[in-house]
Amino acid sequence: MRDKSKYTPMMQQYLTIKENYQDAFVFFRLGDFYELFFEDAQLAAKELEIALTGREAGAEERVPMCGVPHHSAENYINRLIERGYKVAVCEQVEDPASAKGVVRREVVRLLTPGTVMNQTALNEKENNFILSIVAFEDAYAVAYSDLSTGENYAMRLPKENQVLIGELISLGCKEIVIGSEIETAMFDNLRALRQIVLSYEEECLIPIEYQLLVDEINDDYLKQAFGRLVSYLVRTQKSALGHLQPISLTKNEDYLSIDYNSRRNLELTETIRSKSRQGSLLWLLDKTKTAMGSRLLKQWIERPSISEPLINERLDVVQAFMNDFMIKEELKRHLDEVYDLERLAGRIAFGNANARDLLQLHSSLNQIPHIKALLNQLAMPSIDHQLNKLVDCSHITSILEKAIVENPPINIKEGGIIKDGYHETLDEYRYIVTHGKEWILALEAAEREKTGIRSLKIKYNKVFGYYIEISKANLHLIPDDAGYERKQTLVNAERFITEELKEKENLILNAEEKSIQLEYELFTELRQMVKNEIPKIQQIAKVMAYFDVLQSFATVSEEHRYVRPMLNHHHVIEIKDGRHPVVEKVLKGTQYVENDCIMPEDLSILLITGPNMSGKSTYMRQLALISIMAQIGCYVPASSANVPIFDQIFTRIGAADDLVSGHSTFMVEMMETNYALEHATKDSLILLDEIGRGTATFDGMALAQSIIEYVHDKVGAKTLFSTHYHELTQLEEKCDHLENRHVRAEEHEGQLIFMHKLMEGPSDKSYGIHVAEIAKLPSSLIARAKQLLDVLEKDKTTIQTSLETAVKEEDRSVLTSSEPIIKTEPVLEGEQGQLSLFEVAEAKKKVAPKTEVKVEYVNPYEDIINELDQIDLYQLTPMQAMNMMYELKVKMNQRK
Ligand code: ADP
Repeated sequence: MRDKSKYTPMMQQYLTIKENYQDAFVFFRLGDFYELFFEDAQLAAKELEIALTGREAGAEERVPMCGVPHHSAENYINRLIERGYKVAVCEQVEDPASAKGVVRREVVRLLTPGTVMNQTALNEKENNFILSIVAFEDAYAVAYSDLSTGENYAMRLPKENQVLIGELISLGCKEIVIGSEIETAMFDNLRALRQIVLSYEEECLIPIEYQLLVDEINDDYLKQAFGRLVSYLVRTQKSALGHLQPISLTKNEDYLSIDYNSRRNLELTETIRSKSRQGSLLWLLDKTKTAMGSRLLKQWIERPSISEPLINERLDVVQAFMNDFMIKEELKRHLDEVYDLERLAGRIAFGNANARDLLQLHSSLNQIPHIKALLNQLAMPSIDHQLNKLVDCSHITSILEKAIVENPPINIKEGGIIKDGYHETLDEYRYIVTHGKEWILALEAAEREKTGIRSLKIKYNKVFGYYIEISKANLHLIPDDAGYERKQTLVNAERFITEELKEKENLILNAEEKSIQLEYELFTELRQMVKNEIPKIQQIAKVMAYFDVLQSFATVSEEHRYVRPMLNHHHVIEIKDGRHPVVEKVLKGTQYVENDCIMPEDLSILLITGPNMSGKSTYMRQLALISIMAQIGCYVPASSANVPIFDQIFTRIGAADDLVSGHSTFMVEMMETNYALEHATKDSLILLDEIGRGTATFDGMALAQSIIEYVHDKVGAKTLFSTHYHELTQLEEKCDHLENRHVRAEEHEGQLIFMHKLMEGPSDKSYGIHVAEIAKLPSSLIARAKQLLDVLEKDKTTIQTSLETAVKEEDRSVLTSSEPIIKTEPVLEGEQGQLSLFEVAEAKKKVAPKTEVKVEYVNPYEDIINELDQIDLYQLTPMQAMNMMYELKVKMNQRK
């Protein structure tokens, strides 16, 4: 803490203010500049690349200082916010001229990444959420809000950090408001990876003027979370938040739930590697015309519906658009004229909308009657409830039409905004500004007429302003009631003024200034009028976004020949000629190989084998994407599709990004699998890709099998399980609801040709080495691998396949090798297909020595084997199996 008494009074004022804004840059207004001091100055100079100077401030040493001109401050502030900083804007709040001592200064607004309203700092296609969390014993309550659009949401989450963090990332929130009851350690990884700012607010009561927004909500937890959020916003924004919309509940049970890792793996809104929109499902489906539509689409993709009527209502509209090309194209043309109504409403509420914003509002609202008429032509009673919300706004548009010029300036304080003819006084001012002289001449003529004095003149000088001059000879002609007031007497003439002349003079001299002032007033009046209509505008925005998304679905579906999916409730999947929508689009030129997915009610698991790179995981993702597309109300890439309405989708594909605990990849794989097994129901979809390959071959295989059995016997969810453990394909014999599939690959002159075609039955062999060849591993290595494979294939007993079989047959050779069990490195983030093939090559290389030493080895692990023998796999959950494996391995390692 600095000793304030050492400094000048102004610096003392600064230090006092800074105490309350420790975690923000304080932009301290000094005349035409915002100045930063001390550590703020040092850091800002670096971040903003501006010069660091110093200032005498009472103490011995100069205070480090840097500054930016106030008129260009916005750019600098945006740059800091973008980098995840907060900025407290501190203004002079009294007139320096009348201030005694140091001018009073106050922070008028705290700008933070979660609260920026500035257009240039916002991505129009994405919400900018700020989120608050309140931790309770049994749950997290979460409220989130997009200040730029006024949307508010709340949801309850189970008290699982992984789930919470997953939501934070999915929402893409920039700022989290928490209280002291929350451990911040869980955000550490997240903050390191994504620029997320933490802010604190202990108050959880909702300020009285915002209580209406939670009228419909009974959940006290959620009210507290919202209370924390609004209290923070009110405290930092110090401005009316009149555009905040009533809070809507995000009830996760109303949506197809997709956990964070699955969203990420399925590349729903961004690609895994480059985190870019391009290449994601969102990118593919986004042919929206408005920013609101684009944001709504993202929300839908993140939370597909599970309500059949709702999905069908959307599909009906898409179908109608597909059937009527003209209506759809016409609708698009009108949507082109619709601007971002939600953010316009936000700026209007915040009082920083300019004339161009109002003009955009005008253009947008003007489309309502056209859009309504078009959609009425569809003659669909089911959309009437939407159309009714497109209320008439002609009272706004007609005023804006009359009031605002075509090309208004950005600045609202310099005039040039209001049209002629809108306001009489303004017209008069303007007339005077441009026609002042003519007007004086007209008055002169009128006065001559009135008095009959032909030499009467109206003149002007700086001292008296305008006056009427009449020569002495004519003075007697002035009528008594003319209202002339003598101002000055000259030798030959008298000078007069009249009430009217004075008034007009006033007008003429001040007309310019006054007209600018009046324009500003008229503009703010307009803005106020519009502000009163914000709820209406927000409602219209929602409907426009709704139809915009659906036209986008129709447009994409038409372009890519998608079909309307049928939905069922009896666990049947019947997809003919399905395609992966994104891969298909990206494969330009090359033919995407279509694949069926047929799973009758009693078939719950497809066990898919096939070489790496053959298309197994593409096939699995394809099913998930088709399901998601169906459940957001879009057509799907297939020639026909009948799909169940899933309640949840779980995927364990590719590498995981563990943002919470920093666990190893294999641990995460197991945790995720466990999460799926715990939460999945008969109505869920589970995709498990190469489970178990992150650990030693045998425990990996054991786990894979017990997981399959568990899903098969206890869960019954529709499951696709891909594996390179061929041995697992035997399971088909004992599991009634499981069938084998394989992806066909053909060998041609020593080369492997991928057919990408899913066929019945298991694949006949593994093609790892061929894939390694294609990946251009050194040819000597490939030759060696082939040689080793031959040895292995000749002695199949060595790689005893199923753990269960091994134990039953008491063939312990597998477990008695002196070689440590093959341990492959956990697979890290990367192109999962390729890494796994390296892994296979490596594994095969290591396996070989085992065959050579096994013969006369005396087994030191006899008791461990007995223990293994005792295990009844059917009584174990996968987690228990894993724990048991772990204990056995520890025992083994202790013997080494
Ligand atoms: P696997 O999971 O079997 O290792 P992937 O699913 O990752 O294989 O597929 C590897 C590559 O093969 C994909 O990146 C894609 O380019 C191509 N591919 C997959 N399925 C198909 C298909 N049905 N038609 C055409 N190309 C495909």
